[in-house]
Amino acid sequence: MNSQKIRINHLSVEYRKVQALRDISLEIVPGKVTGLIGPNGAGKSTLIKGMLGLIPSTQGEVSYGNQPLKQQLSKVAYVPQRSQIDWTYPVTVWDVVMMGRVRQTGWLRGFSPSSKNKAKEALMRVGMSAYTNRPIGQLSGGQQQRVFLARSLTQGGEIFLFDEPFVGVDHRTEEIIFDIFQELAQEGKIVLVVNHDLGESITNFDHLILLNREVVAYGDRQSVLRAENLERAYSGRVRFFNLEEDYDDRRTQCKRHPR
Ligand code: ADP
Ligand code: MG
Repeated sequence: MNSQKIRINHLSVEYRKVQALRDISLEIVPGKVTGLIGPNGAGKSTLIKGMLGLIPSTQGEVSYGNQPLKQQLSKVAYVPQRSQIDWTYPVTVWDVVMMGRVRQTGWLRGFSPSSKNKAKEALMRVGMSAYTNRPIGQLSGGQQQRVFLARSLTQGGEIFLFDEPFVGVDHRTEEIIFDIFQELAQEGKIVLVVNHDLGESITNFDHLILLNREVVAYGDRQSVLRAENLERAYSGRVRFFNLEEDYDDRRTQCKRHPR
Protein backbone atom coordinates (compact mmCIF):
# COMPACT_ATOMS: atom_id res chain seq x y z
CA MET A 1 0.00 0.00 0.00
CA ASN A 2 1.25 3.45 -0.93
CA SER A 3 2.48 5.49 2.02
CA GLN A 4 4.13 8.37 0.17
CA LYS A 5 2.95 11.87 1.00
CA ILE A 6 2.86 15.10 -0.91
CA ARG A 7 4.94 17.68 0.95
CA ILE A 8 4.49 21.35 0.16
CA ASN A 9 7.34 23.44 1.53
CA HIS A 10 7.14 27.26 1.67
CA LEU A 11 5.34 27.54 -1.66
CA SER A 12 4.53 31.07 -2.87
CA VAL A 13 2.91 32.09 -6.16
CA GLU A 14 2.55 35.56 -7.66
CA TYR A 15 0.55 36.68 -10.68
CA ARG A 16 2.05 39.93 -11.96
CA LYS A 17 2.86 41.20 -8.49
CA VAL A 18 -0.40 39.95 -6.94
CA GLN A 19 0.54 37.43 -4.31
CA ALA A 20 -1.92 34.56 -4.78
CA LEU A 21 -0.26 32.16 -2.33
CA ARG A 22 1.98 33.05 0.56
CA ASP A 23 4.38 30.59 2.10
CA ILE A 24 2.24 27.45 1.97
CA SER A 25 3.60 24.48 3.92
CA LEU A 26 1.58 21.34 4.48
CA GLU A 27 1.36 17.61 3.83
CA ILE A 28 -1.28 15.65 1.98
CA VAL A 29 -1.44 12.03 3.03
CA PRO A 30 -2.72 8.95 1.19
CA GLY A 31 -5.71 7.07 2.55
CA LYS A 32 -7.79 10.15 3.34
CA VAL A 33 -10.15 12.27 1.29
CA THR A 34 -8.79 15.79 1.72
CA GLY A 35 -10.92 18.85 0.95
CA LEU A 36 -9.29 22.12 -0.08
CA ILE A 37 -11.66 24.88 0.99
CA GLY A 38 -11.66 28.66 1.22
CA PRO A 39 -13.49 31.66 -0.25
CA ASN A 40 -13.47 32.65 -3.94
CA GLY A 41 -10.06 33.90 -4.92
CA ALA A 42 -8.40 32.17 -1.96
CA GLY A 43 -5.89 30.52 -4.28
CA LYS A 44 -7.31 26.98 -4.30
CA SER A 45 -6.93 26.45 -8.05
CA THR A 46 -3.59 28.24 -7.94
CA LEU A 47 -2.37 25.83 -5.26
CA ILE A 48 -3.19 22.79 -7.41
CA LYS A 49 -1.55 24.30 -10.50
CA GLY A 50 1.44 25.41 -8.46
CA MET A 51 1.84 21.92 -6.98
CA LEU A 52 1.97 20.44 -10.47
CA GLY A 53 4.32 23.10 -11.81
CA LEU A 54 1.70 24.25 -14.35
CA ILE A 55 2.33 27.83 -13.18
CA PRO A 56 5.65 29.13 -11.89
CA SER A 57 6.23 29.59 -8.17
CA THR A 58 8.33 32.38 -6.70
CA GLN A 59 9.57 30.20 -3.87
CA GLY A 60 9.24 26.75 -2.35
CA GLU A 61 9.03 23.16 -3.52
CA VAL A 62 6.55 20.31 -3.69
CA SER A 63 7.67 16.73 -3.37
CA TYR A 64 6.02 13.32 -3.58
CA GLY A 65 8.06 10.66 -1.88
CA ASN A 66 11.64 11.82 -2.35
CA GLN A 67 11.24 13.50 -5.74
CA PRO A 68 9.71 16.75 -6.98
CA LEU A 69 6.05 16.14 -7.79
CA LYS A 70 6.30 17.94 -11.13
CA GLN A 71 8.73 15.26 -12.30
CA GLN A 72 6.14 12.54 -11.57
CA LEU A 73 3.12 13.84 -13.43
CA SER A 74 2.41 10.41 -14.90
CA LYS A 75 1.20 9.43 -11.42
CA VAL A 76 -1.24 12.35 -11.30
CA ALA A 77 -4.84 12.47 -12.51
CA TYR A 78 -5.99 16.11 -12.52
CA VAL A 79 -9.49 17.28 -13.41
CA PRO A 80 -9.50 21.10 -13.75
CA GLN A 81 -12.36 23.42 -12.89
CA ARG A 82 -15.29 23.25 -15.35
CA SER A 83 -14.70 26.75 -16.62
CA GLN A 84 -11.28 25.68 -17.91
CA ILE A 85 -12.62 22.86 -20.06
CA ASP A 86 -13.80 23.53 -23.62
CA TRP A 87 -17.20 21.82 -23.63
CA THR A 88 -17.87 22.53 -27.29
CA TYR A 89 -14.94 20.38 -28.38
CA PRO A 90 -16.52 17.61 -30.48
CA VAL A 91 -15.50 14.48 -28.60
CA THR A 92 -17.55 11.57 -27.31
CA VAL A 93 -17.62 10.20 -23.78
CA TRP A 94 -15.45 7.31 -24.97
CA ASP A 95 -12.83 9.71 -26.44
CA VAL A 96 -12.64 11.64 -23.18
CA VAL A 97 -12.21 8.50 -21.09
CA MET A 98 -9.61 7.02 -23.45
CA MET A 99 -7.55 10.21 -23.11
CA GLY A 100 -6.75 8.75 -19.69
CA ARG A 101 -4.72 6.05 -21.50
CA VAL A 102 -2.83 8.26 -23.93
CA ARG A 103 0.15 8.65 -21.68
CA GLN A 104 0.55 4.89 -21.33
CA THR A 105 -0.22 4.01 -24.92
CA GLY A 106 0.37 7.05 -27.14
CA TRP A 107 -2.20 8.09 -29.76
CA LEU A 108 -0.54 6.38 -32.69
CA ARG A 109 -0.19 2.89 -31.30
CA GLY A 110 -3.89 2.26 -30.82
CA PHE A 111 -5.36 1.18 -27.53
CA SER A 112 -4.79 -2.30 -26.13
CA PRO A 113 -7.70 -4.50 -25.06
CA SER A 114 -6.66 -3.99 -21.45
CA SER A 115 -6.77 -0.20 -21.86
CA LYS A 116 -10.23 -0.48 -23.35
CA ASN A 117 -11.35 -2.74 -20.52
CA LYS A 118 -10.11 -0.24 -17.97
CA ALA A 119 -12.15 2.48 -19.68
CA LYS A 120 -15.26 0.32 -19.78
CA GLU A 121 -14.89 -0.59 -16.12
CA ALA A 122 -14.44 3.06 -15.18
CA LEU A 123 -17.57 4.10 -17.10
CA MET A 124 -19.49 1.38 -15.33
CA ARG A 125 -18.14 2.46 -11.94
CA VAL A 126 -19.45 6.01 -12.44
CA GLY A 127 -22.73 4.79 -13.94
CA MET A 128 -22.13 6.22 -17.42
CA SER A 129 -21.82 3.11 -19.63
CA ALA A 130 -25.07 3.92 -21.43
CA TYR A 131 -23.62 7.22 -22.66
CA THR A 132 -20.41 5.89 -24.20
CA ASN A 133 -21.04 7.27 -27.71
CA ARG A 134 -22.61 10.60 -26.74
CA PRO A 135 -20.83 13.88 -27.43
CA ILE A 136 -19.60 15.21 -24.10
CA GLY A 137 -21.18 18.63 -24.75
CA GLN A 138 -24.68 17.10 -24.71
CA LEU A 139 -24.47 15.78 -21.14
CA SER A 140 -25.59 17.45 -17.92
CA GLY A 141 -22.99 18.94 -15.59
CA GLY A 142 -23.19 15.95 -13.27
CA GLN A 143 -22.79 13.48 -16.13
CA GLN A 144 -19.80 15.41 -17.47
CA GLN A 145 -18.10 15.32 -14.09
CA ARG A 146 -18.69 11.58 -13.87
CA VAL A 147 -17.07 11.13 -17.28
CA PHE A 148 -14.02 13.11 -16.17
CA LEU A 149 -13.88 11.02 -13.03
CA ALA A 150 -13.96 7.90 -15.23
CA ARG A 151 -11.07 9.31 -17.25
CA SER A 152 -8.99 9.79 -14.10
CA LEU A 153 -9.81 6.23 -12.97
CA THR A 154 -8.81 4.89 -16.38
CA GLN A 155 -5.49 6.66 -16.08
CA GLY A 156 -4.83 4.70 -12.89
CA GLY A 157 -2.49 7.08 -11.05
CA GLU A 158 -1.58 7.44 -7.38
CA ILE A 159 -2.63 11.06 -6.95
CA PHE A 160 -6.11 12.38 -7.77
CA LEU A 161 -6.73 16.14 -7.89
CA PHE A 162 -10.21 17.48 -8.59
CA ASP A 163 -10.99 21.19 -8.83
CA GLU A 164 -14.62 21.94 -7.84
CA PRO A 165 -16.11 18.69 -9.14
CA PHE A 166 -19.47 19.37 -7.54
CA VAL A 167 -20.36 22.61 -9.31
CA GLY A 168 -23.58 22.09 -11.29
CA VAL A 169 -23.88 18.50 -10.09
CA ASP A 170 -27.04 16.85 -8.75
CA HIS A 171 -27.17 15.27 -5.30
CA ARG A 172 -27.16 11.68 -6.57
CA THR A 173 -24.04 12.31 -8.65
CA GLU A 174 -22.37 13.96 -5.69
CA GLU A 175 -22.97 10.79 -3.64
CA ILE A 176 -21.57 8.57 -6.40
CA ILE A 177 -18.49 10.75 -6.71
CA PHE A 178 -17.85 10.87 -2.95
CA ASP A 179 -18.19 7.07 -2.74
CA ILE A 180 -15.51 6.70 -5.40
CA PHE A 181 -13.27 9.22 -3.61
CA GLN A 182 -13.58 7.11 -0.46
CA GLU A 183 -12.76 3.94 -2.39
CA LEU A 184 -9.69 5.56 -3.93
CA ALA A 185 -8.53 6.70 -0.49
CA GLN A 186 -9.02 3.18 0.84
CA GLU A 187 -6.86 1.88 -2.01
CA GLY A 188 -4.10 4.13 -0.63
CA LYS A 189 -4.39 6.94 -3.17
CA ILE A 190 -3.94 10.61 -2.48
CA VAL A 191 -7.27 12.36 -3.07
CA LEU A 192 -7.44 16.17 -2.98
CA VAL A 193 -10.70 17.90 -3.83
CA VAL A 194 -11.34 21.63 -4.12
CA ASN A 195 -14.75 22.51 -2.76
CA HIS A 196 -15.89 26.05 -2.09
CA ASP A 197 -19.25 25.00 -0.66
CA LEU A 198 -19.44 24.56 3.09
CA GLY A 199 -22.80 22.78 3.07
CA GLU A 200 -23.60 19.39 4.51
CA SER A 201 -21.42 17.60 2.00
CA ILE A 202 -18.34 18.76 3.87
CA THR A 203 -18.79 15.86 6.28
CA ASN A 204 -17.61 13.59 3.44
CA PHE A 205 -14.06 14.86 3.85
CA ASP A 206 -11.66 13.25 6.35
CA HIS A 207 -9.10 16.03 6.22
CA LEU A 208 -9.45 19.69 5.31
CA ILE A 209 -7.11 22.43 4.20
CA LEU A 210 -8.59 25.86 4.85
CA LEU A 211 -6.93 28.40 2.59
CA ASN A 212 -7.07 32.15 2.18
CA ARG A 213 -3.87 33.02 0.32
CA GLU A 214 -2.14 31.38 3.25
CA VAL A 215 -2.97 28.26 5.20
CA VAL A 216 -5.53 29.16 7.86
CA ALA A 217 -5.75 25.61 9.21
CA TYR A 218 -5.28 22.03 8.05
CA GLY A 219 -5.72 18.55 9.48
CA ASP A 220 -8.73 16.56 10.71
CA ARG A 221 -12.07 17.93 9.57
CA GLN A 222 -13.27 18.64 13.10
CA SER A 223 -10.16 20.49 14.12
CA VAL A 224 -10.26 22.70 11.02
CA LEU A 225 -13.96 23.55 11.20
CA ARG A 226 -13.69 25.67 14.30
CA ALA A 227 -15.42 29.01 14.45
CA GLU A 228 -12.21 30.98 14.83
CA ASN A 229 -10.68 29.36 11.72
CA LEU A 230 -13.75 30.01 9.59
CA GLU A 231 -13.93 33.54 10.90
CA ARG A 232 -10.35 34.13 9.79
CA ALA A 233 -10.79 32.53 6.38
CA TYR A 234 -14.20 33.93 5.49
CA SER A 235 -14.12 37.19 7.49
CA GLY A 236 -17.29 36.22 9.32
CA ARG A 237 -19.36 35.64 6.18
CA VAL A 238 -20.04 31.98 6.95
CA ARG A 239 -21.14 30.45 10.22
CA PHE A 240 -22.06 27.02 11.41
CA PHE A 241 -24.62 26.08 13.97
CA ASN A 242 -23.32 24.28 17.06
CA LEU A 243 -19.92 24.07 15.58
CA GLU A 244 -18.14 23.01 18.71
CA GLU A 245 -20.42 20.02 19.20
CA ASP A 246 -19.88 16.65 17.65
CA TYR A 247 -20.03 17.41 14.00
CA ASP A 248 -20.59 13.92 12.64
CA ASP A 249 -23.78 13.27 14.51
CA ARG A 250 -25.25 16.62 13.63
CA ARG A 251 -25.04 16.75 9.88
CA THR A 252 -28.29 18.62 9.52
CA GLN A 253 -27.02 21.49 11.63
CA CYS A 254 -24.17 22.27 9.30
CA LYS A 255 -25.73 25.01 7.22
CA ARG A 256 -24.96 28.38 5.88
CA HIS A 257 -25.99 31.03 8.33
CA PRO A 258 -29.00 32.98 7.01
CA ARG A 259 -27.93 36.49 6.15
P1 ADP B 1 -9.82 30.09 -6.13
O1 ADP B 1 -9.59 28.89 -6.99
O2 ADP B 1 -9.61 29.84 -4.67
O3 ADP B 1 -11.13 30.78 -6.37
P2 ADP B 1 -7.66 31.19 -7.75
O4 ADP B 1 -6.53 30.30 -7.46
O5 ADP B 1 -8.38 30.98 -9.03
O6 ADP B 1 -8.68 31.17 -6.51
O7 ADP B 1 -7.17 32.70 -7.74
C1 ADP B 1 -6.42 33.26 -6.68
C2 ADP B 1 -6.11 34.73 -6.96
O8 ADP B 1 -5.23 34.83 -8.07
C3 ADP B 1 -7.34 35.55 -7.32
O9 ADP B 1 -7.18 36.83 -6.80
C4 ADP B 1 -7.32 35.55 -8.83
O10 ADP B 1 -7.96 36.71 -9.32
C5 ADP B 1 -5.83 35.56 -9.12
N1 ADP B 1 -5.54 34.86 -10.40
C6 ADP B 1 -5.86 33.58 -10.69
N2 ADP B 1 -5.42 33.23 -11.93
C7 ADP B 1 -4.79 34.34 -12.41
C8 ADP B 1 -4.09 34.63 -13.63
N3 ADP B 1 -3.96 33.70 -14.60
N4 ADP B 1 -3.57 35.87 -13.78
C9 ADP B 1 -3.69 36.81 -12.81
N5 ADP B 1 -4.31 36.60 -11.63
C10 ADP B 1 -4.86 35.38 -11.43
MG1 MG C 1 -10.75 27.93 -8.34
